[in-house]
Amino acid sequence: MYINGEWLTGRPEFPVNNPATGEIIGRVTDCSDQDIEAAIAAADRAFKEWKKTTAYQRSQLLYRAWELMMRQKRTLAELMTREQGKPLKASLNEVQYGADFLLWFAEEAKRMYGQIIPSARENQRFLVQKSPIGVVGAITPWNYPISMITRKLAPALAAGCTVILKPAESTPLCAKAMMEIFAEAGFPPGVVNLITVQNPAPVGTAFCTDPRIRKLTFTGSTAVGKELNGLAAANMKRVSMELGGHAPAIVFPDADPVHAAKGLSLVKFLNTGQACISPNRIFVHEDHAEPFIKELSIRASRMVAGNGMSEGTGIGPLINELAIQKVDSQVKDAVALGAKVETGGHRLTDNGLNEGHFYAPTVLVGVTPAMKIYREETFGPVAPVITYRSEDDVIAMANDTEYGLAAYVYSNNMATTMRAFEALDFGIVGINDINPTSAAAPFGGMKNSGIGREGAQEGIEEYLNTKLGGFTI
Ligand code: ADP
Repeated sequence: MYINGEWLTGRPEFPVNNPATGEIIGRVTDCSDQDIEAAIAAADRAFKEWKKTTAYQRSQLLYRAWELMMRQKRTLAELMTREQGKPLKASLNEVQYGADFLLWFAEEAKRMYGQIIPSARENQRFLVQKSPIGVVGAITPWNYPISMITRKLAPALAAGCTVILKPAESTPLCAKAMMEIFAEAGFPPGVVNLITVQNPAPVGTAFCTDPRIRKLTFTGSTAVGKELNGLAAANMKRVSMELGGHAPAIVFPDADPVHAAKGLSLVKFLNTGQACISPNRIFVHEDHAEPFIKELSIRASRMVAGNGMSEGTGIGPLINELAIQKVDSQVKDAVALGAKVETGGHRLTDNGLNEGHFYAPTVLVGVTPAMKIYREETFGPVAPVITYRSEDDVIAMANDTEYGLAAYVYSNNMATTMRAFEALDFGIVGINDINPTSAAAPFGGMKNSGIGREGAQEGIEEYLNTKLGGFTI
């Protein structure tokens, strides 16, 4: 734990496992109620001075943190692979993506512009100023254990807020490494604080109820997000919620089915399917289903599962045993209701994989709305394929979900892509693009996928209050 500029030890600890091998790779402090209180008090005290700093001072510190991250890129990536499981190349990409937020918001800090608004009264002027919202409680997930931290902390710090970070219990070591970077960059004591904990509920309650905390930013499951949002609302806190997804991917008849299968296999199996923007329903026109399914299945079956540190590993483990069970139960349910397994469909245990949580990259065809996988987020390496007949039908099917985070479209016809872009009720639409994310672009969902946006110009607004001055002159 890092509270008020000090590393605190001498408390009970909990272990951190490598999901590829089951090995214990470290231990972190398990915080108590007193530690939560100490972190909130420190952040509250520090806010009084931090909010007075200039945007240029805050920018300089964020820039230094960015430099340190870039210098330690490989060390951070190796730690991420050991703690979270993704292949080293994917970890390197994530560290870069994470660092991008520090640089982006180091720059955005200087652009917190206000406004002067003309009044209908001759002797009146309106001045609008942006001010930091206050102490921020940040709760982050394990699937992107570094970039989800910088995506929240960089705009909060740029805005002039102080932060208490509570990372996921499966990946606290990445959070600790990031906190070392913030400390070395020179953020004053209490401005950035870390509390690690095995049972997150008391921290969630404190973040949502303590009057000193003004904002909760959360990335995680819809179930937990809704619970926290309810509690935060009762205490009038601002929130940002990045929750679950159930992304549709539509392959229109004019698209090259082989090219689409290549792209969708890359995004589906990225991070072993453990991403809120992972395609969860792949719609392909019935006349083109055969070449598409063939290519997708070949690509899935060729993927080499293993330890992300080994050369040649294409897909890493799932995070834990519970994740394996969830994926397997969705596959079994689909098969019982008539889906066919083209490839995969089982746990992987050969060649030493039995120590970790590995599941074979899977392609399911004949998926229907009656199956759990059609509605529930899978968070695993399963590509469910559904055929359709008309554009109207497929748009209706794609929108038929409680979620609204990401959607994907493959078509070479500009009118088709524009119609689809406008008709899809999702916050992010990748048009012949499987990576529609960047520190410069607003990320966030509609419906049960959440509230607010991260990254981009909008990202800093989440941490600002608007203050109006009315002046009679
Ligand atoms: P997942 O199922 O992907 O692990 P969770 O929503 O359970 O998603 O976890 C995302 C983050 O939310 C993690 O940091 C976790 O510790 C935290 N979390 C889970 N339950 C609670 C809770 N009741 N209060 C606060 N944080 C929670």
